[in-house]
Amino acid sequence: MILLNPKKHNRYYPDQKSREIMLKTIDFFESKGKGKLKADDHARVWYADFLDFVKKEKIFATLLTPSTYGLEDPDFRWDTWRNCEFNEILAFYALHYWYTWQVSILGLGPIWMSQNEEVKKKTAQLLREGGIFAFGLSEKEHGADIYSTEMKLASQGDGTYRASGRKYYIGNANKAALVSTLGKMTDSGEFVFFVVGTTHGKYECVKNIVNVQSYVAEYALHDYPIYESDILSKGQDAWDAALNTVNVGKYNLGWASIGICTHAFYEAINHAANRVLYGKHVTDFPHIKQLLTDAYCRLVAMKAFALRASDYMRTASAEDRRYLLYNPMVKMKVTTQGEEVINLLWDVIAAKGFEKDTYFEIATRDIRALPKLEGTVHVNMALIIKFMRNYFFDPGRFPDIPRVAEGKNDDFLFNQGPTKGLSKIQFHDYNLAYRSVDLPNVNLFKKQIEILREFLIASAGDAAAAGEQARDIDFLLTLGELFTLVAYGQLFIEFRNLNRGEVSDELLEQIFDFLVRDFAKYALQLYSKVSSTPKQMEISMKMILKPVPDRARFERIWKNQVFALVEDYRMND
Ligand SMILES: Cc1cc2nc3c(=O)[nH]c(=O)nc-3n(C[C@H](O)[C@H](O)[C@H](O)COP(=O)(O)OP(=O)(O)OC[C@H]3O[C@@H](n4cnc5c(N)ncnc54)[C@H](O)[C@@H]3O)c2cc1C
Repeated sequence: MILLNPKKHNRYYPDQKSREIMLKTIDFFESKGKGKLKADDHARVWYADFLDFVKKEKIFATLLTPSTYGLEDPDFRWDTWRNCEFNEILAFYALHYWYTWQVSILGLGPIWMSQNEEVKKKTAQLLREGGIFAFGLSEKEHGADIYSTEMKLASQGDGTYRASGRKYYIGNANKAALVSTLGKMTDSGEFVFFVVGTTHGKYECVKNIVNVQSYVAEYALHDYPIYESDILSKGQDAWDAALNTVNVGKYNLGWASIGICTHAFYEAINHAANRVLYGKHVTDFPHIKQLLTDAYCRLVAMKAFALRASDYMRTASAEDRRYLLYNPMVKMKVTTQGEEVINLLWDVIAAKGFEKDTYFEIATRDIRALPKLEGTVHVNMALIIKFMRNYFFDPGRFPDIPRVAEGKNDDFLFNQGPTKGLSKIQFHDYNLAYRSVDLPNVNLFKKQIEILREFLIASAGDAAAAGEQARDIDFLLTLGELFTLVAYGQLFIEFRNLNRGEVSDELLEQIFDFLVRDFAKYALQLYSKVSSTPKQMEISMKMILKPVPDRARFERIWKNQVFALVEDYRMND
């Protein structure tokens, strides 16, 4: 059973402590119950009960302290495998509880990546005391444009500094034990990361910008005194720490989408199965079967892809940076698929999805946030496009990456090195995965990939069009969607080959049914772009293929995997 069901929780963990953390967290939310969870959401109550629980059980300390700094406890480690599940569980219950964990991860990034041992030891202690953290990157006027950062750090000539400026949209900035803040040196203009405390007299938490349980603040530093011991990194190291932290954090966004969609799925199918219209159960309508089966397949693919991407994150090294493609895809592709799943489910649950007592009501609001955090979908797509040439035309050789579920600290994530040289990164040949499967829809998808390659070769050969289109981000975003689908299908097959018990051939086929349709959809969009040439239009049309129909297979998936989930999970009231 690939989807999370908190009431039948039996996922593999390499150690008892990890299992205990997940079960206790599930118990915290089930004991709180849906009524209180929703009441707190509506009243925008700061989640102090959750943070007290986290403190008592030392949960953030166990999950977010790299093993070097968690000496007295062998369970302390930064382990992406178990953090995936914790992400999923939190968002399954409510995104705001996930958000305080997520921005703590971001705040910790520049600290664990720095050479400042004093701050690192202090941070380990603060985590043990139940501290949460914040990441002060964004500024009101500058959005994704971090180059324009205005927060200033001025040297006083005596080895001390003064910080002044404002940050905007900063989670946990009301209560964080430390806020990692990105600024620029007034004298040299170089970047600098330093930490500030939210209780200091020169720190002003101006206001909460959002109207929800979380605190997403504007804060100001008014000549805040900074000592060398507060500085995490300077110059290129500070810049790299900002981007490398986002590399770690953005991966979690996909997991939050998976958690939201899973809970929403249970609510939607339970409602539809119990609702009788015109003497028929709603789940007997053919279009409802189609909507729920599509939602299920998309959700399974989201989770399988994100799990496989974790293997690449956990085995990454200076020589193997393939995670830099798969990781933004977890952010960009998985979170937008999450929106698609909620759209499908909303057409099933319909009016009930607006009711204040449902989880669905918050799912429809919160699912929209994830594509927008930590770089928008566009920013991540612009990043991914840099990998397209090598992915298709210059594969490298790498050892096979197994499933990486063992309990180890993911050291490389805090030592990722320079953020440059993306277009030089190589990937293993995607054909290896595709050739391992010989099934009708997968074979159709392979045909679409071949036509996409033909499109890319023809486009490169047309110098005038290639020059114009290389500057047209609108055109590239659509092309990027097609490229993303190829890598998405590839890692999905790799996951399935390593976990055959989780995904049958029939489910694989049903999933490629929607992948073939999505490929055709983006091909049509590419055809319709203003700058597409007649040759490109002709090739785009060839990518529009129809999945191989198999009614019997569909019915078996519906009955045995989708409808079988009716009443499998309901949250305690
Ligand atoms: C609820 C919430 C919590 C947040 N928490 C934090 C936090 O804790 N810490 C923190 O530092 N920040 C935080 N942020 C800020 C978040 O990271 C920013 O929203 C994000 O960086 C994008 O900025 P923006 O939304 O202002 O969009 P803008 O950057 O203003 O973008 C406007 C448009 O231009 C496009 N665009 C911008 N740059 C490019 C590009 N290079 N290529 C293609 N298209 C581009 C965008 O996709 C978008 O469509 C939070 C935001 C929200 C909403």
